[in-house]
Amino acid sequence: MAHDAHYIGGAWREAGGETIEVRDPATEEVVGRVPAGRAQDVDAAVRAARDALPAWAATPPADRAARIAALAEVLTARREEIAATVTTELGAPLSFSRAVHADLPAAVAGSYATLAAEYAFEERVGNSTVYQEPVGVVGAITPWNYPLHQIVAKAAPAFAAGCTVVLKPAENTPLVAQLFADAVHEAGLPAGVFNLVTGYGPEAGEALAGHPGVDLVSFTGSTAVGRRIGATAGAALKPVALELGGKSANVVLPGADLAKAVKVGVANVMANSGQTCSAWTRLLVDAQHYEEAVERAAGAVAKYVPGDPTDEATRLGPLVSARQRDRVTGYIEQGVAEGARLVAGGPGAPEDRPRGWYVRPTVFADVTPEMTIAQEEIFGPVLSIMRYDGVEDAVRVANATVYGLAGAVWAADDAEAAAFARRMDTGQVDINGGRFNPLAPFGGYKHSGIGRELGRHGLAEYLQTKSLQF
Ligand code: NAD
Repeated sequence: MAHDAHYIGGAWREAGGETIEVRDPATEEVVGRVPAGRAQDVDAAVRAARDALPAWAATPPADRAARIAALAEVLTARREEIAATVTTELGAPLSFSRAVHADLPAAVAGSYATLAAEYAFEERVGNSTVYQEPVGVVGAITPWNYPLHQIVAKAAPAFAAGCTVVLKPAENTPLVAQLFADAVHEAGLPAGVFNLVTGYGPEAGEALAGHPGVDLVSFTGSTAVGRRIGATAGAALKPVALELGGKSANVVLPGADLAKAVKVGVANVMANSGQTCSAWTRLLVDAQHYEEAVERAAGAVAKYVPGDPTDEATRLGPLVSARQRDRVTGYIEQGVAEGARLVAGGPGAPEDRPRGWYVRPTVFADVTPEMTIAQEEIFGPVLSIMRYDGVEDAVRVANATVYGLAGAVWAADDAEAAAFARRMDTGQVDINGGRFNPLAPFGGYKHSGIGRELGRHGLAEYLQTKSLQF
């Protein structure tokens, strides 16, 4: 159920005015309407956050931890509702929505309940006492691809630090943001600690990013918008955290388990219909194993049949919007035009999916570093397979993009893979299929961003340091 209101100062406030239609990507039908917030709504939310700041910042960390633990419990209890909401507005398969879109944010909230209780907000350094104090009011702007996770990855550490938050979520996925506001309310966080204004980026987003009452802007989204927000924050001498795009490499070294590397690699790119900033969209294989990898990838992709995301058996849903569908299709056409070898999928919609924003899961071979599909973030179920000639060349190709968010390395043993990973200009690398760790810092090198989320590194983003000398 959508609220025709913004959540400000602990209550839903009727908005009036323009609304945003939320559509189901699988059916293209309208499934909800939320307010298109304006500058005055953002202003009211920032004022509520400022009013709530002194008391929340002064609340003992253990008490903040208790409220965050309550929030994690509410999110856990509402698992089915969260999963159904994300499937409806994002189009992610229900099984993925449960396991990732619902369970991951609940786990991240839980981790910040623990960290808030354990973190050294005060320490003695020689004759000084060093305090970690909240930065203040946080303006959080989030995208639609992991809509609840990205909210929690900002709000939970901000709450733990003693900050208050104004959130402007993505316009495609505002329903789960409203659900989060209800969860915050139910968990008993004090009024004004969390505030939600739904709306479009150029209006509500810009108003929040440039608001003088916001002390830190934390943004996840495209590199283009991140650059703009960084410039605004820089002009105001305000700290900023940016989680941006990626073009990550999945590097298979000779001697690795090729079958596993390709299978896991394909699954990584198909997850969430390829709408994952850290997706390993470039598979790098040496000449000797190259054709086997291409064949295996084409075979693996055949198992990802686009289907109804509410069907429990579906592994690949639609893209979030017609705009994204057109963008991804455009990149597939460009790959063909630039001479990459199409080995699965291709332009156009899947034949049996006349409705919904579906694309065909696609694999390109013979992709070279200068091709557009090797450089730009496609954000769809599209894998580019590239060849390298020796380890030095593999390092060169892996690093040959402006991005540096994530990656994977497969080798005969972990030490060899880790040695390679240390040479990659990227924020995190999975070694021989190492599992995602919600306590490990997540964030990018180069144009993939500034700052880190998750775990204690994510908490530190919301703190500033003061020392007293005795
Ligand atoms: P986007 O940058 O268009 O939008 C992200 C958010 O910014 C939305 O809430 C949007 O309304 C808002 N926004 C848009 N224009 C704005 C402006 N001028 N001022 C202020 N806010 C504005 O990105 P998107 O299309 O929603 O998301 C996809 C992109 O996000 C991809 O490039 C992806 O890689 C990136 N992403 C990165 C991460 C990460 O952790 N590094 C995570 C998810 C997505």
